[in-house]
Amino acid sequence: MDTAATFLGRLPLGRGWNLDGARGLLNKLRTYLPAEQIATVRRAYEFGAKAHSGQIRKSGEPYISHPVAVASILADLQLDYQSITAAILHDVVEDTPTAIEHIVLEFGEEVAELVDGVSKLDQIQFKSKAEAQAESLRKMMLAMARDVRVILLKLADRLHNMRTLGSMPADKRRRIARETLDIYAPMANRLGINDIRLELEDLGFRNLYPHRYQVIEKGLKSQLGGQKRMLKRVTNKLRKVLLEHHVQAEVTGREKHIYSVYQKMKRKEVSLEDVADVFGFRIVVDDADMCYRVLGHVHRTYRPMLGRFKDYIAIPRVNGYQSLHTMAVGPNAIPLEVQIRTRDMDNFANSGIAAHWLYKTDQSEEVAPQVRARAWLSGLEDYQADSNSEEFLESVKIDLFPDKVYVFTPRGDILRLPRGSTPVDFAYAVHTDVGNRCVSARVDRRRMPLRTVLTNGQTVTIKTERGAHPNPGWMNFVVTAKARAAIRGYLKQLRSEDAVKMGRRLLEYALVEFKAKIRHLKPEQMTELLGSMGLESRDSLYEQIGLGHQLAPIVARRLLSRNDELAAGDSESNSTELSITGTQDMVVSYAKCCYPVPGDSVMGHLSSGRGLVIHRQQCGNLAEFRKQPDKWIDVSWEAGIESQFMVAIQVEALDKVGALASVATRISNAGSNIDHVEVVDTDGDASSLRFSIRVKDADHLRRVMKQIDGMPDVLVVERVIAS
Ligand code: MN
Repeated sequence: MDTAATFLGRLPLGRGWNLDGARGLLNKLRTYLPAEQIATVRRAYEFGAKAHSGQIRKSGEPYISHPVAVASILADLQLDYQSITAAILHDVVEDTPTAIEHIVLEFGEEVAELVDGVSKLDQIQFKSKAEAQAESLRKMMLAMARDVRVILLKLADRLHNMRTLGSMPADKRRRIARETLDIYAPMANRLGINDIRLELEDLGFRNLYPHRYQVIEKGLKSQLGGQKRMLKRVTNKLRKVLLEHHVQAEVTGREKHIYSVYQKMKRKEVSLEDVADVFGFRIVVDDADMCYRVLGHVHRTYRPMLGRFKDYIAIPRVNGYQSLHTMAVGPNAIPLEVQIRTRDMDNFANSGIAAHWLYKTDQSEEVAPQVRARAWLSGLEDYQADSNSEEFLESVKIDLFPDKVYVFTPRGDILRLPRGSTPVDFAYAVHTDVGNRCVSARVDRRRMPLRTVLTNGQTVTIKTERGAHPNPGWMNFVVTAKARAAIRGYLKQLRSEDAVKMGRRLLEYALVEFKAKIRHLKPEQMTELLGSMGLESRDSLYEQIGLGHQLAPIVARRLLSRNDELAAGDSESNSTELSITGTQDMVVSYAKCCYPVPGDSVMGHLSSGRGLVIHRQQCGNLAEFRKQPDKWIDVSWEAGIESQFMVAIQVEALDKVGALASVATRISNAGSNIDHVEVVDTDGDASSLRFSIRVKDADHLRRVMKQIDGMPDVLVVERVIAS
């Protein structure tokens, strides 16, 4: 009785185990997994077989044979039992009524997450022209997977589907084959999983170009007889030479892969004969030193071709592949391609990132898959220290440590955005105009707020409107530099327009003192001043004044200095006032010390960079500012200002339960909103409460205060002003 049978004897297996390829899987698992882990896999098999029962594949086999075959491919890579379990369950959520929660309950979070990851990848629609988008799609998938085992699972899934593609209609076969060549084979290549890559390529090529495949296959076969003799002759010769030098080595002839032959023909524009006439050999030894010694023996046996030696041990390929490659002239002048590498290098060449599961067999040391992926990556980085493949590494890094999201435009193009991006970032990434005029967004067809954080694979549609403007509030959630810059630029432009208007009014106002008007100035007066100030236009002068960088009275005096008739010295005070309209938000602000509102008597202080700051006449800060009269101007409120102004009031009330609440109710009943409340002081039976509220004007404020004053428990109400 063989060992597998002994094991099978211990587990009461159902009939299905033997029918669906499960027995083969079991035998593979036995070689590297402990019995209790295999028991979990077996439980998954029973769970899956039940869930899929009654489902039949196109090939006529029961559905469960597919997940078992996928698990079997992963068992060849010696992946952990969680991956194997997830492989068996990978279609359960997608194709049966089983909920993911059920998997969590039965097999734990880790397995469920792997299953969920695969289901999510399956939902990506390959709707765009694959060729141009292939790279982005690969990245999107790698970014979505998060756990690299999800990708390995997906690759195994695709490999088995490709192996059984024969039962599909021809057009579907071609589509799947193209996708395999564009997306999955390069992905396997990037992760260094050569075995899977080669098979995906051959199957993809065969189904996409059946005719070309046949031609190459036939061409290779026709030489097979001679080829086999040649392979045997060289293999034997090399074995003999190595044996004579007491070198332990495994020498094998390499079979040719049809897709690689095709690509070589295409890339080098050579005939099938040229490619087919090359014979490949692989020599596997124990350690790296031995590789170089073997190389010497090979070169002494067959003359090496000049310039065809490559040392990928010292300088590995970008995906971590290591080996020595050389070409030599064989019997009958036939070119020989020889690869020499260690056992570890050989394993790595076949399994790539998956080899990290192969080596970490110590069960006591549970290593997170991301940690393993990181180890793999940092290994690559060490190798690549002085090669110029940064771009490759950069892209792998993005893939394994996703800090990007990949989303679709409605046309199926893919945009890559930083994690945390919103529809507004998306809109600006499409085009600045789209961002500037964006008013709403749909994410996967559903109307969503513009601040929604996007996730991988979503399709985003932006609605724009003519005349729409960026909203300053967007600054609070956009993450891309492009969106930030565009919104900031727009605000700056707004501010500059406001500043120009305000500056012109301030200058006009200052000129009144000299009984002058801007439109009565001679053009050269203005030109001369602009020249001396190094400014380009009147508008830039107005902007400087509006922003408070230049003082209007000084500019006025400089403008008029050569005009004796209207010379300064006329001390008659300015009887007009600058009016505040309540709409110059970008250049007029209201002081936080005294909170002026329309109806208060006020003064304006020109503050460099901040423009005009309005204070109440009673404000204590005025005394200080009056020392610089040039910076102060009389201002008045324009009638009918429609805006809300912040004021602070202080209320002294008897300390009773609910006092604060009833004052607040009065305030809001009087049509005012409360921004902030603070208990300033409590002395046992009375409290001082400070409210920051919003009112339309002084009248409104009086009404609010009167309401509060009328309350029986209120002792004092007063407006707060800085002293
Ligand atoms: Mn599947």
